[in-house]
Amino acid sequence: FMSYFQHQQSMEDSFQYIINDLNKDNIRNNLKTYTSRQRLPGTEGVMELVKLISRQWRDNGLDKVIVTPYDVLMSYPNTSDPNKVEIVTSSGITFFTSAFFEKPLDEDGNQSDIIPPYNSFSPAGIAEGDLVYVNYGCIEDFLYLRNSLAIDFTNKIVIARYGKIFRGDKVENAQFFNASGIILYTDPADVNIGKMDNTYPDSWWMPDTGVQRGSIGGDGDYLTPFYPAKDYAHRLDMKKVVHIKIPCQPISYGDAFYFLRELGGPDAPDSWHGKLGIRYKIGPGFVDKSLKVRLTVNNYLKIVRVDNIIGIITGSVEQDRYVLLGNHHDAWVFGAIDPLSGTAALTEITRVMGKMKQSGVRPRRTIVFCSWGGEEVGLLGSTEFVEEYMKVLYERAVAYVNVDMLVAYTDYIIVGTSPLLQDAVYQATKMVPNPEPASSYKTLYDVWNAKHPGDGTGEPSVYYSLGSGSDMASFYQRAGVPCVDMWYSYDHKKWNMLSYPLYHSAYETFHMYKTHIDPSFNYSLAMTQLWGILSWKLADETLLSFSVRRYAIAIFGFIKSLINDFGTEWKQHNVNIDALESASRNLTAAANMFDEFIQTVDKDDILAVRMINDKLMQLERAFIDPQGLPGRPFYKHVIFAPSKFNSYKDNSFPGIADTMFEIQHNNSSDWDLLKKQVYVATCTIQSAANTLHPIG
Ligand code: GLU
Ligand code: CA
Ligand code: ZN
Ligand code: ZN
Repeated sequence: FMSYFQHQQSMEDSFQYIINDLNKDNIRNNLKTYTSRQRLPGTEGVMELVKLISRQWRDNGLDKVIVTPYDVLMSYPNTSDPNKVEIVTSSGITFFTSAFFEKPLDEDGNQSDIIPPYNSFSPAGIAEGDLVYVNYGCIEDFLYLRNSLAIDFTNKIVIARYGKIFRGDKVENAQFFNASGIILYTDPADVNIGKMDNTYPDSWWMPDTGVQRGSIGGDGDYLTPFYPAKDYAHRLDMKKVVHIKIPCQPISYGDAFYFLRELGGPDAPDSWHGKLGIRYKIGPGFVDKSLKVRLTVNNYLKIVRVDNIIGIITGSVEQDRYVLLGNHHDAWVFGAIDPLSGTAALTEITRVMGKMKQSGVRPRRTIVFCSWGGEEVGLLGSTEFVEEYMKVLYERAVAYVNVDMLVAYTDYIIVGTSPLLQDAVYQATKMVPNPEPASSYKTLYDVWNAKHPGDGTGEPSVYYSLGSGSDMASFYQRAGVPCVDMWYSYDHKKWNMLSYPLYHSAYETFHMYKTHIDPSFNYSLAMTQLWGILSWKLADETLLSFSVRRYAIAIFGFIKSLINDFGTEWKQHNVNIDALESASRNLTAAANMFDEFIQTVDKDDILAVRMINDKLMQLERAFIDPQGLPGRPFYKHVIFAPSKFNSYKDNSFPGIADTMFEIQHNNSSDWDLLKKQVYVATCTIQSAANTLHPIG
C-alpha cells in the first residue's frame, strides 16, 4: 500500500484506491453490530453505540475524534402506562384497544427494551369523541371536509393515513382545524402496492402489526432556539415550548381497520379509498352512535444528553477549508435502513481514508466526519452543531454531504443537491462501478441515467430539495452550506410511496436488510464508494468543481414556472416581476463570465485559485437572508425552503410560493406581502450576481 502511493499521488490514484479498498463485508459487519439493539436518543442503547463508533474511528487513525454533547429536550412514551386508542361505549366499557407493541417477526427483533410506537412531542392527554377520516390530513383534505361536507372538527378526533406529506404537518393541520386529537395509521394502499398477502418477514411489505413512529415537530432543540444547547445555555420553559397541543398516536393498519370499518356518514371520495378491504366513510362518528373513540397519550418530556461524534482528517494544503460528511446514528428502534446502513458506510470510509492518511496521503482540504445524535426527534444533533459552529461554517465550510439511509431499495439512486454540486455528483457517479450484476452499463452514472433520466435533459434526474427531513437541513437553510443528500431507493413511479414500507417500525432489523433490501451488499458498497469519491473529490480537487451556471439556470427555470403558475393573477394584481427577471439575467451573465474566467486561471497560482474557490463556496451563502422567511426566522435560504405545508418537500422561492398558497386558499389576501417577497428575491439574486464579478 505504501509503495502504491510513493510514486504517484494523483487524485485519480486516490479515487482508485478508495473504490478498491472499501469493503462490503466490513459494511455488513458494522451494520450487524450497530443494529444489535435499539438506539433511541437518550437511552443506554445509543450511548453504547456512540462509544463503539468513536472507538472505531479512533482505531481507524483519524487525526482527531471528539464527542460534542448537547442537553436537549426529548419526548418519550410512558412504558408502564402505554398510549392507546380505544373504542368505548357510553357507559365506559372498552370494546377494542390498539396494540401496545409490535409483535416480533424475526430473530433480530425479539428484544425486551424496544420503545413502543409513539409520535415524539405529542403532548400527553386524553381525547374522547367522534372520529372523522381525513385522508392524508393535507390542508386540501381538511378544506374539502369543512367546505363541501360542512364538517366541524370541534371535539372530533381525526384519523389520517401516513403518506404524501410530513406527519408533523398533518398534526398541525388537525390542530388548526380545531380537532381534539389525531390518530395516524399506515394504509396498505400506501405501503403495500398491489400486495396484501405476502408481508414481512416474507417480503419487505408492511405487515398488519407494523407501526411507523416519528417526530411531529422540532427544528433543533425546543428549549434553545437559534443557540447551542450547551451546559451554559439559557433554556425556555419546557411547559410552554411545544407547539403541538393535541394528542397524537400512530397505530397499525391491523388496528385502524377496526376504527375505519365502523365509521358512518358519507362515503369518502374515490381517491381517499385505501386498501383495507372496507368501504371508506368519512364519519363523523360510528354507525353505532353509542360508541366513541378514546385516545390516550402519556408521553413525557425530559432533558437528555445527545452526542455527535466528530472525526477529522486535516488537509495538506488548505487546513481551514472543510468538507463535511454526515449521517445520524440514533434510530427509532434497530434502524437497519434508517440510519445505520449509512453509519455502517461512514465508518468504512473512515477506515479507508484513515489508512490513506497514515501512509501520507492527505486530501488538500480538511475532511470532517459527522455522526449525529437525535435526528429522529427533530434534527437535534446537527442543528445544535450548526448553531454552535455557525460562524466557522459560514467562513470555511466547502460542502456537506449527507447520507441518512444508504439503501432503502435497489432500483436507482435518489439525489437531492444544491445546483452548485450537481456536476460534482455526476462526475463522482461516473467513477463508481455499476452494482447491477446483469446490466451492461459500466458506471453508476450510466445505470442511473437509464433508469431515472431527467426530463429531456439527457442527464440523470436530481432534486433540488434539501429543506428538511434529515441533517443537511440546518447546514443548507441556516448556514448556506451547499449540500447533497443521497441514497439508493425504489422507483417512485412504480411504487408511489412516501417512504419504504417498514420505515420507522420495529421491523427495520439486520435480518430485514440482509434478506429483503440488499442481500449481496453490492448496492451498499456502491453508495459507500459514491459517498467516499464525492467527498474526496471535493476535498482534494484544486479548483472546486462547483457549477455557478447550474444555479443560474435553475433560478431562471423557477421564475419561468412562477410565471406559468401565477402570471395571469399577478397581472390582475399589479405584481411586477420585470426586476426579478432582469436580476436572473444578470446572474446568468455573471455566471457565464465567471465560468470563462475560471478556464483561464493558472492552477499553480495558489492565491488566484483560492480567490475563485472562495467565490464558488460563498455563492450559496449569498442566497441566505438573515431576516429569514416571513414568519419563519429559522429558514433563511431565499431560493429553497421546505414548504410550509409539507416540510418534506422544497419550494423554490419559498417566500413567494408560500404567500401565493395562502392567497389561493383564501387564508390571506396579502398582496403587499407578496410584492415584498418578489422584492426580496430580486435583490438576493442581484447580490448573488454581484459576488461573482471579478472585482468587488
Ligand atoms: N427524519 C425524521 C423524520 O422524517 C426527522 C425529520 C424532522 O424532524 O424534521 O421523521
Ligand atoms: Ca439550540
Ligand atoms: Zn434518518
Ligand atoms: Zn428516520
